[in-house]
Amino acid sequence: MGKVKTRFAPSPTGWLHLGNARTAIFSYLFAKHHGGRLVLRIEDTDRERSKKEFETAIIEDLKWLGIDWDEGPYRQSERFEIYKKYVDLLLEKGYAYRCFCTQEELEAEREKAKKEGRPYRYNGKCRHLSKEEIEKNLKEGKPYTIRFKVPDGREIVFNDLIKGEVRFNVNDFGDFVIVRSDGSPVYNFVVVIDDAIMGITHVIRGEDHLSNTPKQILLYEALGFPIPKFAHLPIILGEDRSKLSKRHGAVSVRQYRIDGYLPEALLNFLSLLGWYPKDGKEILSKEELIERFDLEDIHNAPAVFNREKLHWMNGVYIREVLDLDDLTQRVINYLKQYGEKLSPEDQKVAKEILKKPFGYVKEVVSKVRDSFFTLKEFPQRAKPFFLEEYTLSPEAEKQIEKATPEVAKNITQLFLEKVKKAETFGGEEFKKAAKEVSKELKLKPGMVFKTLRIALTGETQGVGLDLLADVVGKDSVIKRLERFLTLLK
Ligand code: GLU
Repeated sequence: MGKVKTRFAPSPTGWLHLGNARTAIFSYLFAKHHGGRLVLRIEDTDRERSKKEFETAIIEDLKWLGIDWDEGPYRQSERFEIYKKYVDLLLEKGYAYRCFCTQEELEAEREKAKKEGRPYRYNGKCRHLSKEEIEKNLKEGKPYTIRFKVPDGREIVFNDLIKGEVRFNVNDFGDFVIVRSDGSPVYNFVVVIDDAIMGITHVIRGEDHLSNTPKQILLYEALGFPIPKFAHLPIILGEDRSKLSKRHGAVSVRQYRIDGYLPEALLNFLSLLGWYPKDGKEILSKEELIERFDLEDIHNAPAVFNREKLHWMNGVYIREVLDLDDLTQRVINYLKQYGEKLSPEDQKVAKEILKKPFGYVKEVVSKVRDSFFTLKEFPQRAKPFFLEEYTLSPEAEKQIEKATPEVAKNITQLFLEKVKKAETFGGEEFKKAAKEVSKELKLKPGMVFKTLRIALTGETQGVGLDLLADVVGKDSVIKRLERFLTLLK
């Protein structure tokens, strides 16, 4: 293959959508696999809907995902001069013409087509205006669009690298607008100019653009540009098999960031939406993805977005892939960046976490990394390590009632005595003392552990108490037990 060049061409009209992120990832992986280049191009010709803040956010989120481009960002809004040159060329060569039809006229035609039950296409009225008529209209200052003259009856056939052979009859769409009446060129036109000038060899994009492709091919031909290869990616569906949308929950990369997902896991997960490596390996680093990725392994069938799998995969990265220092730093950075978006209870924990030295947080992370799947879940899982002054959960209160407060008190008091007597108090000592309490009070070990869990954490379930004792140490254990006794009164 010659030098590969791909592009990612987002419109800055919203947050980076998961589907677009996958397009960016595939374009990146394909270019890198073939030793080629990726261009980033911001498609902001729609002045009303394009927003600078979305452009900034898209760029930030791409960087966060680990996608780096070799050229750009180009902005189409800064390239109008270039487009104008090609519009003039098409007009001059008779491939395009000015259309002075008014909105009302076009609307009436559309209505008529609808009534007659046939698909609407422009009737070509302005195709044959004489030079004089055009001059006159221009002199009168009549607004106009510029339309591409679609050759009658042509069939456009191209070989999509994913869809296979695709055929379109141009009669289905008729002469289409390439420049709006406000002078702004439209997507189907500028995309061709840019892809051609930028030397794009492979256009990789969502399936929703498949029907634009014949129009673009006509423009390539008219302008004498070489036609790139096209690869249209299968649509992404939610688990109910309808098109992935907000109804299915978060669909923007930013929301997954806020929800505590790791960029490596999201990149890995999105790469497997429609593509699967030959060797079946699922947990893949960026380098491994680049090594394996090719368009021929993309399935021409809708990909189903499985949120649970993403959650699972993120957990794998937390448990097995990141090293402990790195993971700890990510937890801290996450809480600094998005802490204020957590629930009030988690915010309280987050504040305590951020007060602690790195080494302490790291120790806690090492104890609980098996039990949290996203960074957002960390405060909840790690709470007992950071909050000595908990409030009893409703289940805990119920449990104490059931066991009777009297029994809870006896267990706690006896255990407290043993802790106080111990020189140091860690996990081993915890287990030993709990067993002794059970023996001496003739209570089942389960009952003793349950009570001590509540006494130390305020909850009926959670982290291993020996692990907790190991990290928080004797003083904190004593403080918690004493406080619990006051809660029982
Ligand atoms: N700006 C277009 C979009 O966001 C990209 C179209 C293309 O890749 O050709 O859908």
